[in-house]
Amino acid sequence: MRLHEYQSKSLFAKHDIPIPQGCVATTPAEARRCAKELGGAVAVKAQVLIGGRGKAGGIRLADTPAAAEETAAAILGMEVRGLAVRELLIEESVHIAQEIYLGIVVDRSQRRAVMMASAEGGVEIEQVAHDRPEAIVKVTIDPLSGLSDVQTGALARDIGLEVQLHDAFGRIARGLYEAFAAHDATLAEINPLVVTGQGKLLALDGKMVIDDNALSRHPDLSQMRAQSAQDTGQETPVERKAREAGLSYVHLGGEIGCVVNGAGLAMATMDVIKYFGGVPANFLDVGGGANAAKTAAALRLVLGTPGLKAVLVNIFGGITLCDEVAQGIVTALGEVETRVPLVVRLVGTNEERGQEILAESGYRLLSANTLAEAARKVVAVASGEAAT
Ligand code: GDP
Ligand code: MN
Repeated sequence: MRLHEYQSKSLFAKHDIPIPQGCVATTPAEARRCAKELGGAVAVKAQVLIGGRGKAGGIRLADTPAAAEETAAAILGMEVRGLAVRELLIEESVHIAQEIYLGIVVDRSQRRAVMMASAEGGVEIEQVAHDRPEAIVKVTIDPLSGLSDVQTGALARDIGLEVQLHDAFGRIARGLYEAFAAHDATLAEINPLVVTGQGKLLALDGKMVIDDNALSRHPDLSQMRAQSAQDTGQETPVERKAREAGLSYVHLGGEIGCVVNGAGLAMATMDVIKYFGGVPANFLDVGGGANAAKTAAALRLVLGTPGLKAVLVNIFGGITLCDEVAQGIVTALGEVETRVPLVVRLVGTNEERGQEILAESGYRLLSANTLAEAARKVVAVASGEAAT
């Protein structure tokens, strides 16, 4: 679970990391009120769960409360890298003298948390790591003894931080590690950690990713997710529909839509499509024992995929009844007008009745008995070859 900037910062503050004063706004009027309370210029920051907001225009400065209101309206009306903005963080604007990177991740190979720092903060750290790996310094944290003063001192020195700031840097680094450890995080990051015009260190951005498997230990964090009106809105419309229909769906962007029962069979189906030269448009597991309504919902969803060239329905009926599935296919085709060819492999329980329903429906469907045959056919029709 990824936390929003304002949520991460609220956890940082509990561990004595200095953050700018600010408040969350969901309307331009709230943004104005907040800017007025803060007094002076503010930064208006889109709260979306993606990095690079600055470059995408999701972070702007405003000099007056009226300007903050106007800026808030503009940012609330836009998408930042494909995500709609529903919440804003309004913060006192800070004069920046230097931007530092400070972060902690889990290094799986060492089975330890690793703290990284760089004098080249502000930009994406992945880019720095790629272009100039020597500009990032690291220390490995012992889980029993924690982060030592010697380690934080070494980081401060190695990034060339001026000596007067070393103690403050050490406190922030320790706070970040405490926040990371206390919340079972897999990542905690301050980018940028800035040196202000007044020569103080301040966490200007915050990012935390919590291990989903540990959420049961953190009821307060689960609440954060529920509170954030945005999180459900971060799904694409198709993903939301899939979740609401109880389908396991992952968009992949290829040309061949897949409707399959069972996650393992769905994986195998994608593999076999790839093996024959096709590209799956999605992963979709309708689940065991899917009825007509659920199958119809699944097929409707897949038929709505942009760039779709063909669909493969692959059902191996055990508990799932083939006649129910067939009924679902017919229902969906009655509702969604489509010119995309459908290949249907329907085997198992009530297979004969299912085949009859499909044959009686009058829709032109291509059938197949084995998965290999089905995959070969769907790849052929997707590339515009005549069906055989
Ligand atoms: P990100 O682009 O999503 O990582 O968002 P950040 O919160 O890191 O902001 C990106 C950049 O915007 C920072 O590196 C700063 O240069 C700038 N920025 C953010 N807040 C302020 C502010 O209060 N004052 C000024 N002058 N710049 C800011
Ligand atoms: Mn940032």
